[in-house]
Amino acid sequence: MKTNNDSIVTWRKTCDMCETKFEDTMTKMFGRFPCRVSDFKVDFGTCKSCREDRKTRYAKLFYARDLHWTLESVKEHFESNPPYKGQELLVLDTSGNLNTYALVSVEVAQHGKQKRIVIDGYTNGYSGQSFYRSGKNCFAPKGQVRLLPYNDVIGGLIKSDGKHSLHLELEKIMGLVGEKTPPKV
Ligand SMILES: [Zn+2]
Repeated sequence: MKTNNDSIVTWRKTCDMCETKFEDTMTKMFGRFPCRVSDFKVDFGTCKSCREDRKTRYAKLFYARDLHWTLESVKEHFESNPPYKGQELLVLDTSGNLNTYALVSVEVAQHGKQKRIVIDGYTNGYSGQSFYRSGKNCFAPKGQVRLLPYNDVIGGLIKSDGKHSLHLELEKIMGLVGEKTPPKV
């Protein structure tokens, strides 16, 4: 063990991902360590480069989950391809630690001044059926319910099951729709 000063603790660990030995560092923030020193001084951890890799991996997984859409690109899409009544779209609901895709149809293509899209076919109880053009749900506060343009792969899978919605794991989704690097925010 080596303690540089009061606010930094370092400890030699083995990376649980690449098995490299590395020196892990914990720094006090606002006078406190992020975890107990005894919990920090363990044999295994994740080295910086594996942590970065994992971050990149998750960013790609979440981007795949969003079917490679962002709020901005959905907005652009619906502006240049206005939805129409009866059109099939997808709702992505990530609440409850599930990735639920639901097949929905457009009920009202342009509602009000904001040209909200009203859909038929999905609600999780607190989400409304009205969406902004970016795909944000007008009533779900945490943005866990989003409207996305139709996707052949996911839409086809739902239909082949004869259902209206399905749950998919992140890895499975990326396997289906492919791996892409999300745009920098
Ligand atoms: Zn590593």
